[in-house]
Amino acid sequence: MGRTVVLYPGPGIGHLVPMVELAKVFLQHGVAVTVVLVQPPLEAFDLSSSVARFAAANPSVNFHVLPPPPPAGSGSGGDDTSARPIVRMFGLLDAMNTPLRDFLRSLPSVHALVIDMFCTTALGVASELRLPAYVFFSSAASDLAVFLHLPSTRDSIKISLGEPGDSVVHFPGVPPFKASDIPSEILHDDEASRVILSTFQDLLDSTGVLVNTFESLETRALRALKDGLCVTGRATPPVYCVGPLVSGGGGDEKDHEYLRWLDAQPDKSVVFLSFGSLGAFSKKQVEEIAIGLQSSEQRFLWVVRNPRNDEKNLAEPLAEPDLDALLPAGFTESTKGRGLVVKLWAPQVEVLRHRATGAFMTHCGWNSSLEGITAGLPLLCWPLYAEQRLNKVFLVEEMKLGVEMRGYDGELVNAEEVEAKVRWVMESEDCQALRQRAIAMKDAAVEALREGGSSHAAFVKFLEDLQSYVDSVSRPTGR
Ligand code: UDP
Repeated sequence: MGRTVVLYPGPGIGHLVPMVELAKVFLQHGVAVTVVLVQPPLEAFDLSSSVARFAAANPSVNFHVLPPPPPAGSGSGGDDTSARPIVRMFGLLDAMNTPLRDFLRSLPSVHALVIDMFCTTALGVASELRLPAYVFFSSAASDLAVFLHLPSTRDSIKISLGEPGDSVVHFPGVPPFKASDIPSEILHDDEASRVILSTFQDLLDSTGVLVNTFESLETRALRALKDGLCVTGRATPPVYCVGPLVSGGGGDEKDHEYLRWLDAQPDKSVVFLSFGSLGAFSKKQVEEIAIGLQSSEQRFLWVVRNPRNDEKNLAEPLAEPDLDALLPAGFTESTKGRGLVVKLWAPQVEVLRHRATGAFMTHCGWNSSLEGITAGLPLLCWPLYAEQRLNKVFLVEEMKLGVEMRGYDGELVNAEEVEAKVRWVMESEDCQALRQRAIAMKDAAVEALREGGSSHAAFVKFLEDLQSYVDSVSRPTGR
């Protein structure tokens, strides 16, 4: 078939990055793709500059920005500016079904829709147009195993939250975790949790789920998903592990000043600290990190952002930080030569893959986790928002590729902890086993992607299944 697949990433850089990598995999397999995009209601995310950057770095990928939705009042939501950002986002995605449907109808030949895990509202559009619709799950398979359970178990977990000692939750295929590790948006009985849980429920209506992971990283969770153990009453759709899908970075970043600085450092000597596209700390926390790094006497590269006015509002755009005002007096001078502070954003993938980088302090976003894993680095895990606390549990307890930063779930991670963990990961004999596991997992990731490797084979199987599906439905496309 002259196959064209439409990819529909959710809003947010952490969803767009792996979807663009997925687009490249389709192209490698001779399948034409178009990536359709939505301008999200997060003021922090400037879509046009990101699209321009991605388009320049990936000239073979076709991007199409959908027009804005019909105005509210004509039956759509998405622009209630008083609602919480996450509710606005889901409202917008509902409203985007109209322009998405129009766009799909305008294409001469569409064979499948691959939608982000947050865009399951578009499953209705696919069904209307009689298109097979796959979900691209851009987080860990272990998260998927948990999320598929939550619509039916959330209420009992929530009740136990109020009990002393934070109750421990058990799900098949994943290590036990604390109830408070579940994303906070899900645990409250409000509009946000309702839309998120119904999105998880909708995953079951997809034709299949492509997951950004690889078999040997999450063997147990995948077995549980395949056994269908994760969902009471309903079968889990076929799961295809096609990762790790990690950006190779943009070509223009090779000459970046931070990379040149790394060029001058010894092998495996620098700890890289970066907390995702949205991570930001209070001034007090920034100071604790600075003091810890100072006392550790280790080399570091650290991405610093301004504190948020409202720590809970991830949509708040952050201005470039004034480092003199933010960092403790004397910090820059005393760490000159062995440490570098980066304002707002670093070319993370290139930094992680640089031979001078020896460890990664991360917020455990799944893209960052995979980027650290594929660079073969030990992880210092400091989860902040969304599903990152769960990822921390999987990375530390199950994969054993990282250690936790104590205090992440309290008021502060103090300077002593930062110093101790940085020293431990960079210079201790005790960390040797962790370093070796990290390198072995990097090799396993390479294996998975190789022709005939598990992720390559899973993608081939997915294409075969898609072809069979297309053949099995006599399908005038609804246009
Ligand atoms: N990123 C980057 N430079 C930075 C911070 C983040 O390139 O200074 C990239 C990072 O490489 C990753 C993405 O932004 O690909 C963040 O995605 P992740 O899933 O880790 O976290 P999120 O931002 O979604 O919380």
